[in-house]
Order: sequence, then C-alpha cells, then structure tokens
Amino acid sequence: LGLALSLAACSGGGGRSATGDGGSSTDNKGALVGVAMPTKVSERWIKDGNAVKSDLEKKGYKVDLEYADNKIPQQVQQVSNMITKGAKVLIVASIDGGSLSDQLDAAAKAGIKVISYDRLLTGSKNVDYYVSFDNEKVGVDQATSLLTGLGVLDADGKKTGKKGPFNIEVFAGSPDDNNATFFFNGAMKTLKPYIEDGTIKIGSGQDGFTQAATQQWDPATAKARMQNLVAKSYSGGTVLNGVLSPYDGMSIGIISALQGAGYGTSSRPLPTITGQDAEAASVKSIIDDQQYSTIYKDTRKLATESVKMADDLLTGKKPEVNDTKSYDNKVKVVPTYLFQPTVVTKDNYKKVLVDSGYYKESDLQ
Ligand code: BGC
Repeated sequence: LGLALSLAACSGGGGRSATGDGGSSTDNKGALVGVAMPTKVSERWIKDGNAVKSDLEKKGYKVDLEYADNKIPQQVQQVSNMITKGAKVLIVASIDGGSLSDQLDAAAKAGIKVISYDRLLTGSKNVDYYVSFDNEKVGVDQATSLLTGLGVLDADGKKTGKKGPFNIEVFAGSPDDNNATFFFNGAMKTLKPYIEDGTIKIGSGQDGFTQAATQQWDPATAKARMQNLVAKSYSGGTVLNGVLSPYDGMSIGIISALQGAGYGTSSRPLPTITGQDAEAASVKSIIDDQQYSTIYKDTRKLATESVKMADDLLTGKKPEVNDTKSYDNKVKVVPTYLFQPTVVTKDNYKKVLVDSGYYKESDLQ
C-alpha cells in the first residue's frame, strides 16, 4: 500500500517514481505514455507515431500522441502538457534537440523517464535512453550510393576506374537536429578521397555543413538553394552529375528545381540524387528513374524498440542497449539501441520494401 500511495503521489508531479528502479510489473499497468513527434508533413513521422501508439496500446498503456507541426514552442507546450497529465514515460522525437531542457528537468523531478526517439535530445542529463538508426552509417550509405549511381563504384562497392570529373552538390539537414551532422559527416568522410583525387568536384565550392544545411529539412528551402546553385555554377554548359540529398522530401524539392532548369530530358538527364526514409512518393520517383536512391529505416523496428524500452522502464527492468559510446548529447553519453539502415534503389526496392510488408505494391503505383 505504501508503494501504491507513493506512486499516486508521483502522478501529481512532485514525488519519486518507482519506474525503472524496482517497481513491480503491476504498478504502472495502464500508465500514460507521452509520445511527441515533430511533424506530419513527412510521411515517416506519421508511420512512426502510429506504430509507437499501437505497440503501446497492445501492451495496455494509454497514449498521448502529439505532433508539433515543426514548431518548437508547440512541442515544448505538448511535452509540458504530457507531464501535467501524469505521463510516466516520454518518447520524444524532437524538432530542436536542445529546446526541451526545462521540460526534461521537470520530467526528471516527477520521476518520468525519457526516451529520445530517432533524434538525440541534447544539452540535458535527463535523457535516459536513445533509440535510432546508425546515423553516421546513413551518411556513409548515402555517399556510397551517390558514387555507385555516378558509376565510380560498382554494385559491390569496388572502384570501376571511372575518373570523372563528376560535378556534384551537397545538401545537409537541419542544424538543430543532431542527426544532420552525423549524416553529413558520414557522407563527406566517404566522398573526401574522391574529391581529393579529382574524381568528383563540388561545383559551387559549398562543401561546409553550414553552407549545405537546410533549416527544418524544408523541401522548399532545398529547392530554392538548388535553383541558386544551378544558376550560379551551372549556367555555362557545365553539367551537374550528382546531388547528395539527406532526406526524401528535400530530394523532391531538388528534383523540381532541376526540372525547372531543364534537367530530366533525354539530352540532359537528371543527376544521381540520393535521399532518406523510403517515403512512398520518393520510392515512386526512384521507380520512375528520377531519384536514384533512398535509405530505408524500418520505422516499425524503432517503434517496437522504443515501446520495449518504455515497458521495461515501467516494469522495473533495465532496457537493452547496443551502443554506449557514440551519442554524447553534450552533457552525457546516452545509452543507445541502434539499428542498421538499408540502401534502396530501383534494383532492390521490391525485395526490401514490398516483400518485407513495409509497403504494398499498390502503395507505390
Ligand atoms: C531523421 C531522418 C529524416 C529527417 C527529416 C532525421 O532526424 O533521422 O530519417 O529524414 O530527420 O525528417
């Protein structure tokens, strides 16, 4: 009874919780879990949110799932509300990884555990676990597939001997998302030797993260930058051969800019363009020979793992992790469970995306 009383006191916000430190499996039965997602603009986050919610509900938890429309104050408010409503665990995919510190402090005071979902929450000690894909590997895979699409590497990753020079441009994601630098650094590390030996050339010279960054991963911003780059660096007959794009939505903006500038015809084909998330519109674009590749990250795995972590924390078990060194959030190294990404092109999309049940063939028509 004593424990039950102290748990009841916790939901008021001030007490010490038994979560994750020995509570019995019935203590948090049917507890509320807050799930904060960044935006519905991108299909992947809708899939993530739905999968997390349904996995939690299958385990008998109540769920408060919120989307913040890519607006930081809205997400801050949503997380505050989850705490007020008495959530016992928060699963958070942030917009700006560093903007929720006050809420994370409040959560810790109330004994609420915090799982950082796909994007690392930074600048706070009150982040208990992180679940994501190997973000540096995503960048390595994006750059490798760019090199494959250009014909510099063959399907086995061996050099073909093609010398180029191939003109490329590079894009990065949102600077407030910790993942964006991981993707960019992984990609640039992979491209570096080919830039150094002259096989590829960044035509505009814009090779720094800050120059390449795209606030909030916004497709329209990427489109505008691509239009500028083409106008400035590719007007005198110089042809653009490749674009490193970190996210499918941005790739759509980039393709649209290039089509507007006369690319996408038989005499001037679209460059090799990468992406990420295997969103349906972009897989269709791959099937139609517009985008070259994407990175598939099975959101079902991320959802299942985050729910397993939440359930472990709520039943007094220690969540399993497989990485305890890669993700330093500037205050602590957050224990992490990482999955591996998969490159998808026209050659393997059926096997990877359809045979696995991630999509039905009809979703991609
Ligand atoms: C995710 C990517 C996604 C990007 C834009 C990143 O944090 O890891 O999968 O493409 O955000 O939504």
